[in-house]
Amino acid sequence: MTSKKTIDQYLGQFSRAKLMTGSTPLEPLNRLSELLDIDLWIKRDDLTGLGMGGNKTRQLEFYFGEAVEQNADTVLITGAVQSNFVRSAAAAAALLGMKSVLQLEERVSGMGEAYYRSGNVLLAKLLGAEHMSFPEGENEAGADNALHERADQLRAEGRSPYIIHLGLGHPPLGALGYVAGAGELAGQLDDFDVAVVPSGSGSTHGGFLTGLRLAGVSADVFGICVRRDQDQQSQRMRVVLDKLAGLLGLEQGLPDEDIITWDGALAPGYGRIGDFTRDALTMMARTEGVFLDPVYTAKTFAGLLGLLKEGRIKPGQKVVMVHTGGVPALFGYQEELDVA
Ligand SMILES: *Cc1c(COP(=O)(O)O)cnc(C)c1O
Repeated sequence: MTSKKTIDQYLGQFSRAKLMTGSTPLEPLNRLSELLDIDLWIKRDDLTGLGMGGNKTRQLEFYFGEAVEQNADTVLITGAVQSNFVRSAAAAAALLGMKSVLQLEERVSGMGEAYYRSGNVLLAKLLGAEHMSFPEGENEAGADNALHERADQLRAEGRSPYIIHLGLGHPPLGALGYVAGAGELAGQLDDFDVAVVPSGSGSTHGGFLTGLRLAGVSADVFGICVRRDQDQQSQRMRVVLDKLAGLLGLEQGLPDEDIITWDGALAPGYGRIGDFTRDALTMMARTEGVFLDPVYTAKTFAGLLGLLKEGRIKPGQKVVMVHTGGVPALFGYQEELDVA
């Protein structure tokens, strides 16, 4: 017996609501492997089950764990108009018999009509969520305040609200879901060289990286930037890793060398589709029959292709791409994706 704690023991300290239907599949991408001369695998976290799936299911298990523990009857969350997080939160609330309030922020300008009506917006309405809108996309404090005001109103009406806080000032509970996800992957595939994940808030990237190291896996983890450039994102990851280490009770956060970010697929910005992204999305669909999403995973696959081109992923390496979901947003990007 060793004194080293297992991932389950680390996670056992936290309240958790069961939202996952089980483990997600890990699949080889044989045709792309041949084409790209690497050994490529995909972790299908688009298939987490609840409310059309995606990475937020893993993250929400810990937020809803806390919400249930606090006897909340209403959950509030803020995000982009085509946010997968708010749609998944509305689905989790439905499953657990709670109400949900979703605040949608204007983070992406110049979008077509489908962006405001289809995809995740439509799904969240079907889930019965209350919708609010917030006119700015980069005003975290303002969006937070608006949510708090709504929570205060609900409290005055005798309801019991719980706010899902995603800002850097709050404990990264969602990252715990990816500590678990990394442990799951480590049990499915031994010995891989590289993992490629999207890096947005950093909960997925940070949790996954930390979970892999706790599981004894030393693979390089590339975080593909979807919202900020790589310097800003690396700084953010330093904070996320340290906060996560504190939350888990680890002696220290992972070293700086473990933080690798890459922003070559970020242009033209968050939630916007460039040629590189569109080509990656259609390549995956037409070679493997797997749909990526326009905001995160198509950029992540574009990142993988860019890293290969730069020689930072090398021929013959065993590579895992984490498919974090988001596919419903495709329908919100109908005009932008109307390719021949
Ligand atoms: C939210 C989201 C991400 C980014 O995850 P973070 O934990 O915020 O970094 C990636 N992919 C999809 C599909 C998402 O919805």
